[in-house]
Amino acid sequence: MIYSSRILKLSTFFLIFLSHVNLGFSSCEIAIFDCGQGNAIAVRFNGQSMVFDAGRTAYASFVKYDDDRRGDSEINTQYIITENSTHPLKTASVDQEKFTLPGGPVSGNTTAYKELFKTKFKEFVGPRLKSVFISHPDKDHSSLVKELDLQPDIYVLGGMFDLYKKPFRDHIDGKNILGTTQDYDTLNSSNAYKNQQFKTHCKFTGTGSIPTVDILSINANGKGDTNADSMIVKVSHNNRSILITGDAEGETWNDVPNDRRALLQSDVLIIPHHGSLTNESTNEEILAEIRPKVCFISAGFQYAHPSFKVINLLLDYYDTTQYRTTPHYITFFENKIRKAMITNAPIFTTIDNGALFINLSAPLTVNVSRDFSPTPDITLIDKNGVRLFLSLDPSNEFVDLNRLKQLDSKSKLLHDTPFGREVYWIMDSGSKEQYYYKFGDAFLKMKLFEENEEEGTVQVWNKSITEWIKDRQNKKIKVYTETLRFLGTITEL
Ligand SMILES: [Zn+2]
Repeated sequence: MIYSSRILKLSTFFLIFLSHVNLGFSSCEIAIFDCGQGNAIAVRFNGQSMVFDAGRTAYASFVKYDDDRRGDSEINTQYIITENSTHPLKTASVDQEKFTLPGGPVSGNTTAYKELFKTKFKEFVGPRLKSVFISHPDKDHSSLVKELDLQPDIYVLGGMFDLYKKPFRDHIDGKNILGTTQDYDTLNSSNAYKNQQFKTHCKFTGTGSIPTVDILSINANGKGDTNADSMIVKVSHNNRSILITGDAEGETWNDVPNDRRALLQSDVLIIPHHGSLTNESTNEEILAEIRPKVCFISAGFQYAHPSFKVINLLLDYYDTTQYRTTPHYITFFENKIRKAMITNAPIFTTIDNGALFINLSAPLTVNVSRDFSPTPDITLIDKNGVRLFLSLDPSNEFVDLNRLKQLDSKSKLLHDTPFGREVYWIMDSGSKEQYYYKFGDAFLKMKLFEENEEEGTVQVWNKSITEWIKDRQNKKIKVYTETLRFLGTITEL
């Protein structure tokens, strides 16, 4: 109870101080919803919207880890993508054994949470849905069209029409459809932009700079493999762009016509096939061609996506770039075991971060609806209910052990035993105490906060824990030391 009331209070607190997603009319906003296994992506501009895949399959076998899927909360955490950062890419592995996953073991019915994103999705799409693009017939990319009764001016379909499931085909029967085998002659990757229907319905309207949509591969002739037939679409605005890739595979990339290949370069990339390793969906060569600054992965737990190898591929790629963001967790699967890593590479997954929002504008800022961030919940509580706790300071770069030792020759790195073995304490030359939290071989700086439950206030505490205790000695302080717990967005300042 204490836990949830604090979350609530802090949520309000942070909402006041965080600048919200820019909802200006002239901006091109993109949302990748946390739909579980599947893709549910929408773009909106000037009161109009387009959907690029809307589907999911059931939450399934990885139900053990399913409880942290709380749908889309109202909490926004921002990650600004730093370009030309001189900081080296840092990643730190986290041994899965060391912490408990949020929500703990399955505790029963979480269906309500899982349904939340549908409302958010429809809200975001709004009443002026111009077009629905479906990358390929698989249910995890198309099921929501019927389920949410999406009624666009036009459907643009990748892959073979006959392979779409019957409920979907029934739903769109008699509607405006482009791109299937039925009208292959009128729409393919090379001529889509000339098609009158495409020009009318797949273009936003407004004044000034208007986002454009390009089809790079549609595979309307179909090879029969639904994934490889995935449509690849690019949305551009103000010299910024996003590449939306369905479940494209290695061979799909070859279908992009030569005269359209230059369009592959994009600032934002939705990693194909939920980060699956299958058939080289994501490979070194294509990353070198796209040169993304930010990568998003929409995945659920059903098929153990994203793959550890794909994450590794992305980290290798980011090693060669200078795009960075503040440290955050990413989850991946290795041999079907969920593992997590903390990194400052701009890779975000719906598993860890819920719904992902980005504006095609500079600087690129990712807003996430949920944080997956184990935080040491070190709490001191006095009899008046005033609590002090340590929290990660995500604005800091990783510090390695040697650098930490070198910060000052007089500094000592200590096991701060009262607060658990993961927390380190250091005194810098200005005799200011600092705290670090250990992630594998890396350390992150922490900040102290004080929360007064009665007053409902939260403040950053600039003194040390020992001073804080001294200050309050006459108030009979009770010291609690707890093991790691998950605290949602509490880490964000
Ligand atoms: Zn899929």
